[in-house]
Amino acid sequence: MRHLIVSDIHSNLAAFEAVLADAGSVDRVWSLGDVVGYGPDPNECLERLRGLPHLSVAGNHDWGSIARIDISDFNPEAQHICRWTGQQLSADNQAYLAGLAETVVEGDFTIVHGSPRYPTWEYLVYTLSALENFDYFDTRFCLVGHSHVPIIFQSRDGTCDLLVPTPDSVWHLGEQRLIINPGAVGQPRDGDERASYVILDTDQDTLTYRRVPYPVYVTQKRMQQAGLPERQISRLAMGW
Ligand code: ZN
Repeated sequence: MRHLIVSDIHSNLAAFEAVLADAGSVDRVWSLGDVVGYGPDPNECLERLRGLPHLSVAGNHDWGSIARIDISDFNPEAQHICRWTGQQLSADNQAYLAGLAETVVEGDFTIVHGSPRYPTWEYLVYTLSALENFDYFDTRFCLVGHSHVPIIFQSRDGTCDLLVPTPDSVWHLGEQRLIINPGAVGQPRDGDERASYVILDTDQDTLTYRRVPYPVYVTQKRMQQAGLPERQISRLAMGW
């Protein structure tokens, strides 16, 4: 089976379409949350995802946009966009987001947005917090998003290694327990503006990291038309 693993689409339809085209034929899409927030096309991104065989977990922006969680900790621009997103979302898409689980277990994979310990909130970017989080899931692997940075944490003899996957790198899944972040589709933050995603091949037991260019200006123009904050528009071109 070939699974497309995406996270943090963030209402960026142009980026999501580029990923779907680049990935080609897949059996299922696994979405690690934050389908909406920041970008201009929340309904379109949700409808595109929902039209595919998929599973999805809740991200902080998904639930922030429907007032399912308190967004007072969000920065002011993110709060503003959450409220804007909530006004755009159809009733059906709001119900879909409300019905998402925080954690889904699928075979050898635990799937969350932020971390297995605090699924919608915790950012895993350091080895210390990643090491602690290996105690919070039972499967061999855990998939996370939220930081918008492609990264792999490997548990080994009570320590934790941080691995940085380069585009087109292929990772063979063995006995080592891993926490895997595919990076962000719609708002990469590692200095590379291209959309990031992963293909999981469960026959070959491999993960392949991919980066794909998309027409950033299309998303930026849509954001301008919607009156979204300038800083959130410009950052897309720089990947931060
Ligand atoms: Zn996000």
